[in-house]
Amino acid sequence: MLADIDREVTLTASYTGITRLNEDVIRAMAHTAREQFVPPGMRAYAYDNRPLPIGHDQTISQPFIVALMTHLLNPRKGMRILEIGTGSGYQAAILAQVVAKVYSVERIRELSENTGRILASLGLDNVELLVGDGYRGWPEQAPYDGIIVTAAASQIPPALPQQLAPGGRLVIPVGRPYGRQDLLLIEKQENGAARTSNILPVAFVPLRNEEPDDAEI
Ligand code: SAH
Repeated sequence: MLADIDREVTLTASYTGITRLNEDVIRAMAHTAREQFVPPGMRAYAYDNRPLPIGHDQTISQPFIVALMTHLLNPRKGMRILEIGTGSGYQAAILAQVVAKVYSVERIRELSENTGRILASLGLDNVELLVGDGYRGWPEQAPYDGIIVTAAASQIPPALPQQLAPGGRLVIPVGRPYGRQDLLLIEKQENGAARTSNILPVAFVPLRNEEPDDAEI
């Protein structure tokens, strides 16, 4: 899997401008058993460099994209990071090994609870989970040094840049549901102004903008 990630970094370097990923991120990917985060029927494919279904019409992201998005946050030891879209918990587990604290919001209760069990079994105790609508961020714990959104938004949810500390980074796929989407990096300057870069075309499940749907939970 690490070799596949490496190859894809090289293949996409002309788009992303990134030729090497952060070593702490690579180390965390090497130390994390992705098979623990996929349903039993998918374990045979756990180390393929592709997204996999995790139930509820949702997916665990492709390992290359997890590595790239984590790298783009420019993660460092003392940071506090907000994730929107806990899903399988794999992205949160990678982040938890490279930063101080991870806050992760998921709208589907069962996914969040399942992630809570997996993270506890791995001894990753620096992740806080919340069931709710991540479109509004998690204002009670703001500001964050970085925010990562793992579902595609049609526009940048206004609450998210507001919850970033000056100098913080927001990594978010923006585009049409199941259509063209671009991974964006938004850097909030020390003076509060935002600088946006378009990193790569991507494919994510949609970010819902609503309270959790009880029928689905
Ligand atoms: N980071 C995940 C990828 C999850 S897929 C992983 O590593 O596995 C995206 C997730 O975003 C789904 O679980 C979906 O339920 C969730 N999601 C979609 N809209 C949301 C919203 N408004 N608030 C919180 N979570 C949301």
